Amino acid sequence: MSGTLPGGPHDDQRTGELAGALGRVHARIDAARAAAGRTGPDDPVCLVVVTKFFPAADVDRLAALGVRDIGENRDQEAAAKVADVVLRDRLTVHFIGQLQTNKVRSVVSYADVVQSVDRPKLARALGRAALEAGGELQVLVQVSLETDGAVGPDAGRGGVSMAAAPGLADLVAATDGLALRGVMAVAPLGADPARAFADLRRVRDGIQEQHPEATWMSAGMSGDLEAAVAAGATHLRVGTAILGSRPPHG
Ligand SMILES: *Cc1c(COP(=O)(O)O)cnc(C)c1O
Repeated sequence: MSGTLPGGPHDDQRTGELAGALGRVHARIDAARAAAGRTGPDDPVCLVVVTKFFPAADVDRLAALGVRDIGENRDQEAAAKVADVVLRDRLTVHFIGQLQTNKVRSVVSYADVVQSVDRPKLARALGRAALEAGGELQVLVQVSLETDGAVGPDAGRGGVSMAAAPGLADLVAATDGLALRGVMAVAPLGADPARAFADLRRVRDGIQEQHPEATWMSAGMSGDLEAAVAAGATHLRVGTAILGSRPPHG
């Protein structure tokens, strides 16, 4: 089944909402880049619009508005949605959620990037699936920024420890079918995002010394994108601020 391209009269209102929200987020990013002295063309910040819980028609509206990167966090929802997106060819699809190894074939069939690789077994499975699919998957190592004495394991967010991240990056870089691009993290609940993202930056910088191609730092969401830009994020993952609030996770 394929979706319909937006543009009819019923789409005007939603497309207008999305355009307005997208403009406000770009203005926040521009202001944060200016404040951080990051306005040069050699220092870009990529906006990944997180479309989870919203339909393929919204993805097409965003693509028509110029969005080039979208993020999804659940395989079942993402597989069906991406298949329905008419303007798929304009988009880079990032998988950003926790991933079980039995889902890797599905994920490599529609995702260009997996940002949430947090264990060796998953890296190896993704590499095999990518080779079978005849392509190369771009990969970020997801890092847990929990520090001792913090709120404890942040259930559902995942990530390899900061200490173990370089080893996992080495494994990804050595795995056929995978191209190491960098690191991703979510700021822990209750933590100072500036501190958390500074930790992530240090992890990325250490990995990049061994793997010069690992330039990406994916950090920052609707509530903390300014802190992420200040810390050097190259990719932001923004959902709510663009698409509106979504139902609570089930
Ligand atoms: C949902 C999600 C986001 C987007 O969060 P918002 O607060 O809606 O901007 C970013 N990263 C990950 C990993 C997510 O699951």
